Amino acid sequence: MIEDQIASNLSQVRARIQAATERAGRPAGGVALIAVSKKQPASAIRAAYAAGQRAFGESYLQEALDKMAGLADLDIEWHFIGRIQANKTRQIAAHFDWVHGLSDPAHAHRLSEQRPAEAPPLAVCIQVNLSGEASKGGVAPSETAGLLSLCDALPGLRPRGLMTLPAPADDEASQRLPFQALRALRDRLATPERPLDCLSMGMSDDLEAAILEGATQVRIGTAVFGARPYNRGQAGAIATADH
Ligand SMILES: *Cc1c(COP(=O)(O)O)cnc(C)c1O
Repeated sequence: MIEDQIASNLSQVRARIQAATERAGRPAGGVALIAVSKKQPASAIRAAYAAGQRAFGESYLQEALDKMAGLADLDIEWHFIGRIQANKTRQIAAHFDWVHGLSDPAHAHRLSEQRPAEAPPLAVCIQVNLSGEASKGGVAPSETAGLLSLCDALPGLRPRGLMTLPAPADDEASQRLPFQALRALRDRLATPERPLDCLSMGMSDDLEAAILEGATQVRIGTAVFGARPYNRGQAGAIATADH
């Protein structure tokens, strides 16, 4: 059954996180698992929730809102990890607890203004582009301090740390380089008032490298849910498995 598969995948991912944490000589419990449920049906989220998972990451706003509506009975912490579009900020600010891919001052202003007054400030990570690839999102390392200062001044936002999405690399030594760079940047920009205690880095194929370099949140999709079912289909529709 798919429920058993997801529960078993989750325990394997937790074991990988624990092993890497020990290898890094870090205290247990310092790495949070965000289960990336983009392109997975709501039923898969429910199965992971039943297996104890509480934090979920989504990349596509409309797809996420559709699933949230059917999962309102669950106490989920929602992380927006996709590319932000200006016309989507109001919904992101209203429905998510965290945003990991912030890289545009205009989006920061909008998210802060549109964060509902009764909600706590939106937790944000600044996405940093360490490879210089134009196709990748994120600010240049040299622009990170400026965007952080802006977030410090916006009442609807709470800057928590840095995020990166490096190009895939095969061996652990190469995987570690961008994660090491992100941590070094964080160490330089952290202050006592704003410690930037979160490093959002590491996915299914490189979570060990990320944890060795200090990741506090790993964003794991495939290793938890299996291959995404409808990458082949058009964007928009949610896989029919849960209907
Ligand atoms: C899809 C995605 C992930 C998860 O990737 P997997 O390789 O499936 O673990 C993590 N972070 C971001 C930003 C993503 O878009």
